[in-house]
Amino acid sequence: MREDYEEFQRLPDDVISMDDAVPHVLENHWDEVLEAVGEFQGKEWLAESATSLGLLSTVSQRDRAHIRGAMKKWLRKKLADPEEPTEAQIFAIASDVSAYLEQLATEAPLSLADYEIGLEGYAALHKPSATKRLLLSARSCSLDGDLFWAEHLLRVTRAFRDVLSAVSDSDVQAPYLGWRLREPVQVLNSFVRETPPQLLIYWHAQDKKPAFGRSPDAKAPNLSSYIASWVCDYLANHYLNVGLGACAECGKFFVRERRDKSFCSKTCQNRVAYKRKKLLESDALARVDISPDNACDIDAGLWIYHPRYGIGLVESLSSASKPTGPLLPKSSEDAASLVLYRSVLSRKVILQVHFLHGVRMLGFPDLFEGQKREEQLPTFYSVKSEEILAELL
Ligand SMILES: [Zn+2]
Repeated sequence: MREDYEEFQRLPDDVISMDDAVPHVLENHWDEVLEAVGEFQGKEWLAESATSLGLLSTVSQRDRAHIRGAMKKWLRKKLADPEEPTEAQIFAIASDVSAYLEQLATEAPLSLADYEIGLEGYAALHKPSATKRLLLSARSCSLDGDLFWAEHLLRVTRAFRDVLSAVSDSDVQAPYLGWRLREPVQVLNSFVRETPPQLLIYWHAQDKKPAFGRSPDAKAPNLSSYIASWVCDYLANHYLNVGLGACAECGKFFVRERRDKSFCSKTCQNRVAYKRKKLLESDALARVDISPDNACDIDAGLWIYHPRYGIGLVESLSSASKPTGPLLPKSSEDAASLVLYRSVLSRKVILQVHFLHGVRMLGFPDLFEGQKREEQLPTFYSVKSEEILAELL
């Protein structure tokens, strides 16, 4: 009995005392420590600055409604919307953003002292919250007069959505990824260049020592640049630890656990499934069967149903190396080598598809090998009734 007790009491050889635990972990598990700290900091940063993400979502959701409207119009009247957003669309975005900012201001009203922070660089009592800094940078946004600020916000929002969409497509190869990132990164940088330098501010921390931080300059508020800087901060410092995405259905930005998650909520996911069912039961579309070996024959103008992105229009077809026109002839004197060549080429196909949430590039694995990721495969359709399709989009 006593022997059992001693055996029970004897500690294993690799037990470390409490005092040695931290040095041991720092010495032997540094990478895991960095990862855990990064994850923690990312979550904290996101919680603190959630109002900036909320503002981006407000713009993105309204933009999504406009894109849907534009697709319906194209189907019904073959009228493409102009590239630039219309005045009415910009006004709709501006009023949504104004309502959002008003709501924030009732929850965290700016006081005279807050303006002084922005003017003098001194915060008397507390560190100004991220919401207050956002409100300070938005104080020149008004619904009267020029709404260029709303248009700028739209450009930042779209650029952010494009970056997130490019990095979430796991099968897109390097040259294409660069091609998709170039423009949104340029847009973001153009706003970052305009960002007025933030002022140095200080306040008394709990131990009475001064603490320092940065705050937007209340004399030169610029909301779109402030938001563009927030996006850059996310991409540069937290992107690896905090996964963000834009919902493929409603446009809202959301935190996603997995890179391939496309919807912000069960509601959006179910709405897409419901619409898909209605659409496939209707007479709007006729199924077009395309075998993997003939992927190079896919035509622009076909529609595709993707399990994660919903319905989209195939805009163009290109090969994996660079965008090209029609890929190759369908007949040749040497039939066997043509079949082989077409099959090889088909595996390099990349489709540019206009979904409701924007343009995506789909490669051969996305189109024909989804089962490896336990996904349903996308299906192709031609349109039988534009009117019904427009109705059900
Ligand atoms: Zn959603």
